[in-house]
Amino acid sequence: MDNKKYVYLFSEGNASMKNLLGGKGANLADMTSIGIPVPQGFTVTTEACNKYYVDGQKIASEIVEEILTKMAELERISGKEFGSKTNPLLVSVRSGARASMPGMMDTILNLGLNDETVEVMANLTNNPRFAYDSYRRFIQMFADVVMEVEKRNFENLMDEMKEAKGVKYDTELDANDLKELVKQFKALYKKEKGEEFPSDPKTQLIESITAVFRSWENPRAIVYRRLNDIPSSWGTAVNVQEMVFGNKGETSGTGVAFSRNPSTGEKKIFAEYLMNAQGEDVVAGIRTPQPIEKLNDDMPEIYEQFVQIVNTLENHYRDMQDMEFTIEDRKLYFLQTRNGKRTAQAALKIAVDLVEEGMLTKEEAILKVEAKQLDTLLHPNFDTADLKQAAVIAKGLPASPGAACGKVCFTAEEAKERHEKGEKVVLVRLETSPEDIEGMIAAEGILTVRGGMTSHAAVVARGMGTCCVAGCGELKVNEAARTFEVSGKTYNDNDYISIDGSTGNVYGGAIKTVEPEISGYFGIFMGWADEIRSLKVRTNADTPRDAAQAVKFGAEGIGLCRTEHMFFAEERIAAVREMIVAKTEEQRRKALDKLLPMQREDFIGIYEAMEYRPVTIRFLDPPLHEFLPTEESDIADLAKEMGLTFEELKATVESLHEFNPMMGHRGCRLAVSYPEIAEMQTRAVIEAAIDVKRRKGFDIVPEIMIPLVGEVKELKYVKDVVVRIANQIIAEEGVDMKYMVGTMIEIPRAALTADEIAKEAEFFSFGTNDLTQMTFGFSRDDAGNFLKHYYDKKIYESDPFGKLDQTGVGQLVKMAVEKGKATRPNIKLGICGEHGGDPSSVEFCHEVGLQYVSCSPFRVPLARLAAAQAQVKNPRK
Ligand code: ADP
Ligand code: MG
Ligand code: MG
Repeated sequence: MDNKKYVYLFSEGNASMKNLLGGKGANLADMTSIGIPVPQGFTVTTEACNKYYVDGQKIASEIVEEILTKMAELERISGKEFGSKTNPLLVSVRSGARASMPGMMDTILNLGLNDETVEVMANLTNNPRFAYDSYRRFIQMFADVVMEVEKRNFENLMDEMKEAKGVKYDTELDANDLKELVKQFKALYKKEKGEEFPSDPKTQLIESITAVFRSWENPRAIVYRRLNDIPSSWGTAVNVQEMVFGNKGETSGTGVAFSRNPSTGEKKIFAEYLMNAQGEDVVAGIRTPQPIEKLNDDMPEIYEQFVQIVNTLENHYRDMQDMEFTIEDRKLYFLQTRNGKRTAQAALKIAVDLVEEGMLTKEEAILKVEAKQLDTLLHPNFDTADLKQAAVIAKGLPASPGAACGKVCFTAEEAKERHEKGEKVVLVRLETSPEDIEGMIAAEGILTVRGGMTSHAAVVARGMGTCCVAGCGELKVNEAARTFEVSGKTYNDNDYISIDGSTGNVYGGAIKTVEPEISGYFGIFMGWADEIRSLKVRTNADTPRDAAQAVKFGAEGIGLCRTEHMFFAEERIAAVREMIVAKTEEQRRKALDKLLPMQREDFIGIYEAMEYRPVTIRFLDPPLHEFLPTEESDIADLAKEMGLTFEELKATVESLHEFNPMMGHRGCRLAVSYPEIAEMQTRAVIEAAIDVKRRKGFDIVPEIMIPLVGEVKELKYVKDVVVRIANQIIAEEGVDMKYMVGTMIEIPRAALTADEIAKEAEFFSFGTNDLTQMTFGFSRDDAGNFLKHYYDKKIYESDPFGKLDQTGVGQLVKMAVEKGKATRPNIKLGICGEHGGDPSSVEFCHEVGLQYVSCSPFRVPLARLAAAQAQVKNPRK
């Protein structure tokens, strides 16, 4: 037995107790303490929820007792009695986790009613209609959320009743109709559950609290938590609160309010309400709510009090508030307040306004905008009116944000062709590969059946800023028939679909898209973020186009330029293949000579786009099979080009087959086997830098990055090649030019021996994609399939490729930082894995002392903000 307190009256809590009381509970307590009219009640803590699970999904008897004791205090406070035959106390049971969380159990209102108390209520209020309206609501909610009897069943009965009566709205049903409905509801309940509806209020209460705890682990809640980084260990609290009634007649009502406009940020109260209504009626769209201004006409004194409370709450929390209120017989109550959700546009305007109004410092304002939200500012979105009409046909992973609409296309070539003819297309593939790149560029959006958040499609789409939904396993694609099937319907290449890369939704039809608008508030706000942060932000870019885009978004350099991405272009792939299948150094050099001028041009373009900013260029890295010809016709063409027979070349291609290419002949291993590849790349890097320096005057210090190093000697071997060629060119050209040679830390052995490696490496860049892959021992392309079982079983709570695993992989990073610095105190440190664009991972990078993060161009603003937030939370320097 512990002496822990598991239940707190609202008057015992305060705002700092969010972890224990949940967001709703802490704020109800806080509102109580500053004198806002809040119906009183108590909160069962998140610790009680955790204990419920530890105890094998049972509420311990001492907690049940504590709940009943608090119930008795609530009876004293309210002057009413739970289950009383003269003056019954009714309550609501409301879930409330630390962070507001859709997907949890719905609220139960009017708990405490039964066949007897309903009559008492009818007599006391002299309003039987009200009493039976409350009762039928209670039965429906309890049955739905506690006993899992479908809500729809009850709504059908209600609709039948309305039809029989020839009325449109529920408010038009009278007391007798509702009484009859209650009978029907109870009969339905009995039929579904095989037992009577529980009439004992205490049973109703404990069952409901148990249901809230249970709902913490329902599948919707688990999915929501994973997408929003909420650990399951937080648990949820439960609030039990005295009912106030907005459904008592025409002097009662209920509504929701925002202290500023949540879609534009305008400084003006935005609120709606419904007379004679309860709970969620306003949001449920049963009747059309009225704008709050109407309240000023009907009940001016209530309106005035309302405005005053809204302002008090906004000043108190120093942020835009989202509130619920109820008017019972001309008396106003507030039932909830929280920092309101808002669009990205509104978030920026509100943050800037609050600083200008003197309510917040810049540092505080920086924390008010969610970094991930900036995404929506940079990509097209769906037209809201159009979207309301659309039906979701499937759901995949939100792999790259934005909205896209187009006709279905099943191959990359087709996407390219149809795009050139002026058609808008969405590319639908089982999965994408590097060969699909041109089709991916041409498509409005990309939809894949397989693959996770870091699959090829996802990574490339994010880089390009194209919308992508990945891993949409519900689609049955028939590539041969050029159709796909989902939820019983077949779509062909003439059908429109629309996809939302921010939610993962797939819609079966055309939805209009609108281009984003970037306001002046964005510039002001991001300016503050830049002033505050100490972490620099670079970008991963392989082309001058991406580089220029990233600079517009505020990139301060390139942290990763992948040279192989340039090799897939049509006019190059032949030369690349020639290089790979070459049998002799001479053949290989011949192929490399063809590639040199192209590669040099690439780097010139990139340096020019980046001007004076630093550029890290990674040498050839990928498994070579990615480039090998697979089609017979390609092999034949290449054989002709190289003066070989088809059979000879085919045999060579087959001999290059590897069982596990990701761990095969790739990265610096290529340069160890064939140093001439590193020679060519060094030449291209240095000659391009000299050219741009001469023509444009930019003082470029190329940073040459050797990938996949695990042993200092292999780095030294490749570095010696680089240095020899670079120094030779610099001497020949008679220029004064510096360059750096560093490595990626992406093999665990490199992290473990980072002190050794730092003797040769002038910089480390953490390649956390490979480092994650090799530390966990599973490939990011295959993990999607089994990770879902791990999420279900709560072995992992999030995708380690999306969010850096700080306890495992992060420790390798930390260790390498320490060891690297011990050898070379001024070593440059950065990260270039996908994690560089994930806010919690950026915070980690700040904490372990990296100098920069690097991410895809469209994530640069997000990373700038995340870096500033990290600095505010944990100042460095
Ligand atoms: P959610 O978290 O889904 O908003 P809430 O617990 O806030 O759920 O409640 C749902 C609705 O019921 C809200 O409109 C709220 O104002 C209303 N409500 C909750 N408790 C009470 C109560 N004690 N009296 C009157 N209305 C209530
Ligand atoms: Mg609410
Ligand atoms: Mg790598």
